[in-house]
Amino acid sequence: MNGGRDYLDRHLLNHIVSCSVSDDEIRRQEAQNAIRPLRPAVMGKTGGCCFYCGGAAKAVDHFQPITKGGSDRLENLVPACSSCNNSKRDLTLEQWRNARRRAAAVKQGLPNFSATQCDWLKGHGFDVFEAVPVALPTFWFEDQGIAAPDVEAEEWTPSREGRLWAINRVISSRREYLDLYCHEHDEKRSAVLIRLKALGISDAIYEQLAAHPHAWMEIAA
Ligand SMILES: [Zn+2]
Repeated sequence: MNGGRDYLDRHLLNHIVSCSVSDDEIRRQEAQNAIRPLRPAVMGKTGGCCFYCGGAAKAVDHFQPITKGGSDRLENLVPACSSCNNSKRDLTLEQWRNARRRAAAVKQGLPNFSATQCDWLKGHGFDVFEAVPVALPTFWFEDQGIAAPDVEAEEWTPSREGRLWAINRVISSRREYLDLYCHEHDEKRSAVLIRLKALGISDAIYEQLAAHPHAWMEIAA
């Protein structure tokens, strides 16, 4: 049993850490850490209303998405309801606005042409029409006359503490996962490998593990 744990500690965990903690993942973890103390101030911006629809806000949203350089500064954080938060994902406001307009057109059974398709149709004698014949939606904060955060001012620079915290968090969540599965019988081996792959283990490491059933039997013992 100790042999299995040693293998895990010495080899597998090292590989997991070095191969698969992506910058994006670290960034997301760091954002979670940074926004927690700011939550009351964020909610106070609108009195708990969703910045986008005015409903009851439950989440803190990065107005400029973190994958597009948005920071964890209070200026870039707005309250959002779960529905808006899930729908916006990592889109910028204008990308989301366009996506919502297209979704509204599709829902109404109206054309949903791209600008290129529209030009082609016009060039072939079709009447001039809007590419998406639905008005661009406005958001609650715009209707309220609340200024949007200044996305030009956004620039994220990682802090050393935040990065370390994020890496530790990723490692410990994977560690729990491995502890859980590696104590199962070895017939679970293939399931473990599939899950590991889903966690972002590189192909090379995956092949290496798959080719050494003994190591997995040892871990499972
Ligand atoms: Zn909302």
